[in-house]
Amino acid sequence: MKLLLTDGGLLYLQGIEGSYVREIDVDIIGYESGGYVLDKTIMHYQGGGQPGDRGTILAGNLTIPIYNVKKKGKKIVHLSEVETDVKSGKLILDWERRYKIMKMHSLQHALSAVIFKDGFSSLVTEVFPAYGYIETDSDGIKLRREGYSINKIARDIKRYNVSRENLDQKLMARCNLDRLPKSIDEVSVVEIADMDTCACAGTHVKNTSEIGNYWVRTPGKRVEFGLF
Ligand SMILES: [Zn+2]
Repeated sequence: MKLLLTDGGLLYLQGIEGSYVREIDVDIIGYESGGYVLDKTIMHYQGGGQPGDRGTILAGNLTIPIYNVKKKGKKIVHLSEVETDVKSGKLILDWERRYKIMKMHSLQHALSAVIFKDGFSSLVTEVFPAYGYIETDSDGIKLRREGYSINKIARDIKRYNVSRENLDQKLMARCNLDRLPKSIDEVSVVEIADMDTCACAGTHVKNTSEIGNYWVRTPGKRVEFGLF
């Protein structure tokens, strides 16, 4: 089954639960392009407005640090300065950092939905563990009140795949589906109950109440936000 921007092995894209898997046993295919290629991964690779994950591979007594994950060609490379020829290990996510990113990415979807209610699009979005921003097509954003209390209403968040021809264009009006590469025929969809539906292959929390306390400010066309 084809997933958004990839051809499988990305366990964090298995439902919403897939984003909560913190460690797995992996086979190590090899060290190339500055990092490890594995048979599967729970680590998000850098792209789509979300940073690459960090963590470690434990192989016997050896701890191999992974400082970023990138897609190089068709391969997902777990970048590390420690080169070894180990063949298997346990891949462990830097969960504290990742969970912040999951909260931030979910918050971004919700904020983009609130902005869209006033007719404005999110042109560029990017999130980090402590900071994120949305660039809009407004002259100056005046965020609705609900944009400041997204964590106060508990809304479930789901992730599932939809074939490209079955995408509901109307439902996903908020998303710029033209930006999806033509080669993709199975699209990863993230849905916040009664609020938002959008194509996204990032990682998100299960419920908006998990986001916790956050700040948001609106300098001009931008919406900036972060976690306390
Ligand atoms: Zn997302």
